[in-house]
Amino acid sequence: MAEVKKVLILGGGTAGWLSAALLAKLMGSRLDITLVESTHIGTVGVGEATIPPIVAFNQALGIDEKTLMARTSATIKLGIQFENWGQVGDSYMHAFGSLGKAFPFCDFHHIFHAAKEQGHPGSIWDYSLNYQAAKAERFKPMVHIPGTQLPGTQHAYHFDASLYAQLLRERAEALGVTRIDAKVSEVSQHDNGDIRALVLDNGTEVEADLFIDCSGLRALLIEQTLGVGFEDWSHWLPCDRAIAVQSELPEGHSPKPYTRAIAREYGWQWQIPLQHRMGNGLVYCSRHMSEEQAMTQLLENLPGKAITEPRVIQFRTGQRRKQWQNNVVAIGLSSGFLEPLESTSIHLIQTAIIRLIKHFPHQQISTAARDSYNQQFSTEMAQIRDFIILHYALNQRQDSAFWRHCQSMELPQSLSQKLALFTQTGTVFRQQDELFSEVAWQQVLLGQNCWPQQRHPLAEQFSDEQRSELLASLRTLIERSVAQMPSHQEYIDTMVASAKEAG
Ligand SMILES: Cc1cc2nc3c(=O)[nH]c(=O)nc-3n(C[C@H](O)[C@H](O)[C@H](O)COP(=O)(O)OP(=O)(O)OC[C@H]3O[C@@H](n4cnc5c(N)ncnc54)[C@H](O)[C@@H]3O)c2cc1C
Repeated sequence: MAEVKKVLILGGGTAGWLSAALLAKLMGSRLDITLVESTHIGTVGVGEATIPPIVAFNQALGIDEKTLMARTSATIKLGIQFENWGQVGDSYMHAFGSLGKAFPFCDFHHIFHAAKEQGHPGSIWDYSLNYQAAKAERFKPMVHIPGTQLPGTQHAYHFDASLYAQLLRERAEALGVTRIDAKVSEVSQHDNGDIRALVLDNGTEVEADLFIDCSGLRALLIEQTLGVGFEDWSHWLPCDRAIAVQSELPEGHSPKPYTRAIAREYGWQWQIPLQHRMGNGLVYCSRHMSEEQAMTQLLENLPGKAITEPRVIQFRTGQRRKQWQNNVVAIGLSSGFLEPLESTSIHLIQTAIIRLIKHFPHQQISTAARDSYNQQFSTEMAQIRDFIILHYALNQRQDSAFWRHCQSMELPQSLSQKLALFTQTGTVFRQQDELFSEVAWQQVLLGQNCWPQQRHPLAEQFSDEQRSELLASLRTLIERSVAQMPSHQEYIDTMVASAKEAG
């Protein structure tokens, strides 16, 4: 094969336009990039909650925060509040950012628990700046807690996915990406299986050297054409349906700076607040609940009046056996899917396109590059998969066969090992390049009542007074920082106003 010059992206959802925008930004001068999408087919239309790495990704694309907030009705996300996931009535937050003070050899929670045993009041989330800001509905970006070297806030966004795709499309087109609105009706291949061209329903044919399959759950190129196969993880993550609907915000309330994930009898419900409306959905297991029951449950539990028709989305949890096969790289829903409990799919799109650019073929596609890409994708997916399974596995609910199954299911070995280590020693290790930090794991473990049997010996080296002093000073610093922040609504208003001023 000759030099890879022509790239064709199939699909104009978040995956397609994110890929197009970054590829054009970094390699636009040497590549000829075309994106084919069918407005007739449309996009999946969900995917509104994100995680902190999106902040840097947007910066790399030249999208600043005020533009993002003004153009996509975005709000700030400081974490995810999990309700009813341990026992019904429990609530905790996976707040982004840090907890307390990081010590080199012994995690903060050991020191906190040693103090608690001595009668120190409160919860470990008293020492999370993000949690305290989320609950006070305040926000201001802070690299450090003022006057200290302690880490500051970490944030992500909730936004309207179709407006975000529109913003990305403008960037990509301005950087030279050609867009074709047509449906692919046929795929033409070379003898070696490589794709030669896509035949469109407008009678034209588009050839390319490299194809990026962003066709969503259809996986038109990677699966329907190349048949790479699917590794099914539904025995660990049995939910296979979602119903999505938009509603008004609760009357008289401004949007909260966090997502809510509320466990229900056979799955869980999301609430994602945007500036002007709420995104809602119920993720459930169709073996336990009919579509009609799910629809009723979701509509009965909306925070405000529904403003769109509910939409049912079917999915299967797992990954393609290969994401890069021949001259096709699958990015987005076509590459695999993990349910949106920790809002990781858009992040996986970002890491996939970055990874593709790092492996980008010059003279020809090398087998080693393909293998490396596929292996890195699998490792990343498996790590995130384990973190999502953790939420289900740790539940203590007795109200349905669904939750009882999740308590007793056999776990991936990688997760069993992590759980055993935490249960016995209170330690979590982040594997190399793993997305979720030790603090993220600790919050889910502790929030769902998984208490370690032992404490780290170094926690005992502090006297009771030293521990109390440390906790009191951290608490004061956090309370003071939160009090200095504007309200979340004020922050949104300022950002939107300054975007308007900048034109
Ligand atoms: C219920 C649910 C909730 C989710 N929530 C979140 C979340 O909170 N956070 C998060 O990060 N992610 C979330 N996701 C995932 C997120 O929605 C997707 O990762 C993201 O939208 C990317 O989708 P996509 O671009 O791969 O596919 P799509 O949006 O489905 O786009 C597919 C594109 O391919 C085109 N296409 C398909 N076939 C053809 C054809 N034959 N010819 C021409 N064009 C074609 C379509 O027109 C469309 O443009 C969620 C997913 C689901 C299912």
